[in-house]
Amino acid sequence: MTPNIQKAFSPDLFRQQAHALVDQMADYLEQAQSGSLETVIPYKDPEESLAFWQEDYQQGQSDVAAFFNKTIQHSTHLHHPRYMGHQVTPPVPVAALAGLLSGMLNNGMAVYEMGLVSNPLERILSELLAKKIGFDNNASGLLTSGGTLANLTALLAARAAKTGVWEDGTSERLAVMVSEEAHYCIDRAARIMGMGDEGIIKVPTNERFQIRTDLLEQYYKEASEKGLRVIAIIGSACSTSTGSYDDLEAIAAFAQKHQLWFHADGAHGGAVVFSDKYRHLVKGLNKADSVVIDWHKMLMAPALTTALIFRRDDDAFKTFQQKAQYLWANQHSKDWFNSGKRTFECTKLMMSLKVYAILKAHGEQIFTDNVEYLYDLGQTFAKLVKARPNFELALEPESNIVCFRLKSNSADSPNNLNASIRKKLLEDGKFYIVQTTLADKLYLRVSLMNPLTTEVDLIALLDEIENIANQL
Ligand SMILES: *Cc1c(COP(=O)(O)O)cnc(C)c1O
Repeated sequence: MTPNIQKAFSPDLFRQQAHALVDQMADYLEQAQSGSLETVIPYKDPEESLAFWQEDYQQGQSDVAAFFNKTIQHSTHLHHPRYMGHQVTPPVPVAALAGLLSGMLNNGMAVYEMGLVSNPLERILSELLAKKIGFDNNASGLLTSGGTLANLTALLAARAAKTGVWEDGTSERLAVMVSEEAHYCIDRAARIMGMGDEGIIKVPTNERFQIRTDLLEQYYKEASEKGLRVIAIIGSACSTSTGSYDDLEAIAAFAQKHQLWFHADGAHGGAVVFSDKYRHLVKGLNKADSVVIDWHKMLMAPALTTALIFRRDDDAFKTFQQKAQYLWANQHSKDWFNSGKRTFECTKLMMSLKVYAILKAHGEQIFTDNVEYLYDLGQTFAKLVKARPNFELALEPESNIVCFRLKSNSADSPNNLNASIRKKLLEDGKFYIVQTTLADKLYLRVSLMNPLTTEVDLIALLDEIENIANQL
């Protein structure tokens, strides 16, 4: 063993580094919450940022605490109450500790022997979600690396259930139906599966950006006449841009009529299953064949931690039936404890630890509290926007995603005006919000992800937008 290696594995060195890091992280939380962190996003253009880190790298080996500190300073601060950007949660700190632990233990999970703890925990969490969704005891689920991969996995399961493509290949032209507001990863998944442009049937949405269920029959008929074989329909719960919930009951009835697989993409908004107040938004979810819910969006866990739940346990095992002699003896046995049989990943992060740690430390109620507080806050923000005559809402929000914009009272088009406002907000870094385009109109968009955000922050945001507009 070289002295270098000996030092790298020294328990004393680790103890010292870890204590220093945890202190730094606790200070960071304190600063984020007290408002003493100056910016939410210390934005630099990409070239400038690259140059900064290239110079850092040139300096060679140095104190790791300094590197951790720089990383904190130069990152986007999700724990800042004025973080309202993308749909990623500021993790509950205890879950970050579980991340540290799993980073050390590094049990790879694909086979039971490499996931003695994480495989059972994953099963317990899947059963918890299945119950919340309203599935019976036949349901089962798994965790995988993100909603994107989970949606692909669900569509692969749909294909396995409806066709023999996995074994025999096919010359059939398979297709899926989805709303034009669905997350782009559905489109990507269908393309990966060889469906091409025509195989992704995008159904238009109504004025609330929900799939037009009155058009499903027509689109299905047109697809069939073109020689396409529709195998699945996907409902968004909710959509990404506007946070709109599709009518899952209607989709379920349509799927049943035509023997289609019904997949519900609840990456963001499936979390309402934890809330009596908001569960009505996903009425019909229990009729889905598969459901995706991201723990790292509304459920407070670090990314990536995504649940894919199947109504019938059998379906989960059909997706990736393959021999792997060095991993498991029998490809056909349905061992829940060898999680690699059902996931795209072989070695996989011990994701379940992070969620389980939240449950142990804070109980299930924390998910209810988070979802209800943030969805309520979406309503509050909508009221504040409507109270100011110079602003307009794109639509009444159903969730914590709100799209709005400042009206233009000059020659400048509202699109240019709002794009300039968002650019200035980003450069100033005091708030982090994003933008989206709906029917050619550019809107400012907030996802209220931080349960420490209050009405005061929302009022300050609207004030700031007005100030910027006055200076432009
Ligand atoms: C965020 C999101 C996804 C993608 O999930 P990742 O975890 O970011 O890969 C898919 N669908 C919907 C509806 C989403 O909101």
